[in-house]
Amino acid sequence: MARDVRALIVLQSSDHVVIVGAGFGGWRLVEALRREGFDGAITLLGEETYAPYDRPPLSKHVLAGKWDVERATLATPEKIAEADVNLRLGVRAVSLDIESNAVELEDGSRVEGSHVVIATGARARRLPFSADDQILTLRNRDDELRMRLELEGLESGGVIAVIGGGFIGAEVATQLKSRGFVPIVLEALKRPLIGVLGPDVSSWLERLAVDAEIELRSDQHIDDVERGDEGFAVRFEDGSQLRADAVVVGAGALANFEWLEGSGLTLDNGVVVDENLLARESIAAIGDVARFSWPNVMGEELVRIEHWEVANVHANALAHYWMTGEGGRALMVPYFWSDQYGKKIQMLGHPRADDDVVRVSGSPDEGKWLALFSRGGVVTGIVALSQPRALMLSKHLLESPSTLELALEDAPWTN
Ligand SMILES: Cc1cc2nc3c(=O)[nH]c(=O)nc-3n(C[C@H](O)[C@H](O)[C@H](O)COP(=O)(O)OP(=O)(O)OC[C@H]3O[C@@H](n4cnc5c(N)ncnc54)[C@H](O)[C@@H]3O)c2cc1C
Repeated sequence: MARDVRALIVLQSSDHVVIVGAGFGGWRLVEALRREGFDGAITLLGEETYAPYDRPPLSKHVLAGKWDVERATLATPEKIAEADVNLRLGVRAVSLDIESNAVELEDGSRVEGSHVVIATGARARRLPFSADDQILTLRNRDDELRMRLELEGLESGGVIAVIGGGFIGAEVATQLKSRGFVPIVLEALKRPLIGVLGPDVSSWLERLAVDAEIELRSDQHIDDVERGDEGFAVRFEDGSQLRADAVVVGAGALANFEWLEGSGLTLDNGVVVDENLLARESIAAIGDVARFSWPNVMGEELVRIEHWEVANVHANALAHYWMTGEGGRALMVPYFWSDQYGKKIQMLGHPRADDDVVRVSGSPDEGKWLALFSRGGVVTGIVALSQPRALMLSKHLLESPSTLELALEDAPWTN
């Protein structure tokens, strides 16, 4: 019986996997399917005109001017040929027929597969300001090109308003400062990242901007951003204003799933999939767009996580499942990193902002620390500043349920 079920799942040479979204997760899936031995057809459809590339460098080495953007390319011509993938760029999917597994493209043509994978990621959230179309964001290579051209036209010392003090805003501000501009980070909340990491961790991180001599203004309520002859005017609700030579918004991302509306798939802040990433037997979603059932130390939660490593794990897990029938209720430990204000923040798990926090090593004064998140006495996350080894040594605390009490006795971070 078990064998029959597996035979239904396992991909055959005659199968055709159509992947929509030629970003990080889509490309990783192509590689993983081939690594697992799939020798059928793969079509990778992407609306961007660039071969799949890596996004994290855009707000780090590329923006810092240390890398040419081409260096972020993942799918080089050699790798594309080796993977024997039909890569179609500049094509946008507009709908999916879940009965025939046919993807309809903007030009009216259809691509039908035996299996379809939705890997359409997320896009930068825009804010409804008057000057919206002249405000920069950083999600893709077109954004990077636009930002590069705009920065080339600015004098050193130019003031750049960075709206949003989260991960992208902080990384962008860091690189702008390193290039001689004067970024001013405008955060709406009491502290950046308070809604993600909670009051304690966000207060330890707040001083990083100060140490890096980057101006960070919290509790900023922006009414509008306008563009005039003198550059940009950021107008605040209290009537004050800030003049800037350029404006960047880093206000989070929105999952790209609208093209699936009416398809019959369950859509709820992403494409809802099970623990094997399936929306239907032969339709899956991976990466930033997937709202997946995540078995973790607290039980099971439906989550959507915009982390590079999660898209990577998804691609590998889906390829393995479709090639072997071996699925997973294995606990996955999400990993995230961010390089900001000259420091590296790393996080394991997916804690909530209102989880309890205890700092177990270092201190903000030392510029390095490690802290545990817990809920109901069970460790739910580990966050560290400039403590990469200690963080990784502590990973097992999330691989099976660990009480905070036992974690404190075990103290793996001290090794
Ligand atoms: C500037 C930046 C810095 C980052 N830094 C970090 C970091 O330090 N650490 C970390 O963990 N994560 C980081 N991330 C997040 C990480 O890059 C993402 O989690 C990862 O790219 C997700 O992969 P994905 O394939 O789901 O989505 P994406 O890589 O976004 O790929 C989705 C692709 O689908 C395409 N697409 C969308 N709609 C359609 C359609 N209808 N038809 C066809 N194609 C479509 C998009 O154009 C895109 O090319 C960063 C992201 C950005 C933007």
